[in-house]
Amino acid sequence: MPPPIENKERNGKKDVVGMEKPLLALLCDLIRMEATSATAINQSATFCAEWLNRHGLKTEVLMNQGLKSVVASKGAHKPGKPTVVLNGHLDVVPGEPHLFEPKIVEDRLYARGSYDMLGAVAAMMMAMVELREEELDCHVLLQLVPDEETGGMKGTGFLAQNGFLGDFVICGEPTNLHIAVQAKGVLQLKVEVTGVAAHGSRPWLGKNAILCAMDVYRKIEGLDFLKQSSAFYDRPSFNIARIEAGGALNQVPDACSFCLDIRYLPGQDRDEILSDIRRAVPEADVSVLQEGAPVLTYADDPYVRLLRHSTSTVAAMPVRMFGQDGSADTRFFAAHGIPAVEFGPIGANHHGPDEYVEIPSLFTYQKIIEKFVQSIQGREDVK
Ligand SMILES: [Zn+2]
Repeated sequence: MPPPIENKERNGKKDVVGMEKPLLALLCDLIRMEATSATAINQSATFCAEWLNRHGLKTEVLMNQGLKSVVASKGAHKPGKPTVVLNGHLDVVPGEPHLFEPKIVEDRLYARGSYDMLGAVAAMMMAMVELREEELDCHVLLQLVPDEETGGMKGTGFLAQNGFLGDFVICGEPTNLHIAVQAKGVLQLKVEVTGVAAHGSRPWLGKNAILCAMDVYRKIEGLDFLKQSSAFYDRPSFNIARIEAGGALNQVPDACSFCLDIRYLPGQDRDEILSDIRRAVPEADVSVLQEGAPVLTYADDPYVRLLRHSTSTVAAMPVRMFGQDGSADTRFFAAHGIPAVEFGPIGANHHGPDEYVEIPSLFTYQKIIEKFVQSIQGREDVK
C-alpha cells in the first residue's frame, strides 16, 4: 500500500483545505508552483515525480530542450493488454501573482490553472495512486508535460515521437465532464503581396500592395472550404492575425504581408485547402508558418463508449460528445492514428482572471478515471 497522502502547512498556517482532502492539497501545491517559466515548470515536474515516487509509482523524468516531462505507469505492460494514456500539462498561462494563491468560495476553487488543467492533473495523479495493480487488466501511462500552452512539441510531441503511445488517450483539458472527440486542424499561413512604389502624391503611377492584399484576403475568405460544416462544427475558423505594410506616409507601399490562422475541419484535406488558396491568388506568395493535424476520434470508438458509460454512471449526467475549435496535445496521438479525447472536470473562465474549477467535479473526475481504467478487461473486451 502506498503511504497516506499528507497535507501541507505553510508558514505555520494551516492550508485552505483540511486533512481529508489530499486531492485539493495536491492541487493547491501545483497551482502555487506558478508554472509559467521553464524553471518553474521543471520545479513542478520534479515535485510531481517525487510525489508519484513517494506513492509507490514507477516514475521517469525525461529532459528535452530544457523542459522536463514526467512519465509514470501502473498495471500490466504485456502483449495483448491495452495501454491507456492519461496526459496532463503542468504549464499554465501567465497571470497576476494573486491568481497563484488558490481561493475556495463555496464549491469552487479559484486560481490560475485550476481548470486548465491542474485540477485534472491532480485527480489523475490521485487516480494513479488509488488504482490497484493486481486488479488492472491494462497498462496505464500517466504523462505530465511542460508546454501544451506553447505548442506541445517539447513535451507530448517529444513523448509521442519516442514511442510513449497507447491504445487510447485522455488529455485532461477542461470539458465539463463532456467528451471532445474532435479538434480542428491548424494551418497558419503567411501571404505576401507585392506592388509598385510611387510618390504618394501620384498613386496612379504605382500599385498599392495594401489594396492588392485586401483583394487577396477577400478572395481567400470566399473560398468554398470555409463554407463547409460537419456534424460537430458549423464552420472552419478563419482569422487574419497580423499585417505588415507601408513605410513613409508619402509613398505608395510596394509590399504587404499578412498572416492567417486557419482551423480546418477534421475530414477536410490540408493539401487541398492549400492548393485551393494558391490557385485562387496566384498573385500572392503563400507559405506555411505552423500547422497541426486535426483530431478525428469516432464517437462510437469502443474506448470512447466505455468512457462515456463510466462518466454517465459515476456523474449521473448525460454526457455530450463535441468538437473543440482549438487544438490540444491530442493531435500528437491522432497523428499516429490513436484515438484521443479531451476530457476534464467542470469549471469556467480558463485563461481569464476568474478561472475556477468546481471542487466536487474533481472527485467525480478521479472516480470516473478509476472506473474507466478498471472496466478495461483486455483489448478484446473493448472491441
Ligand atoms: Zn489546457
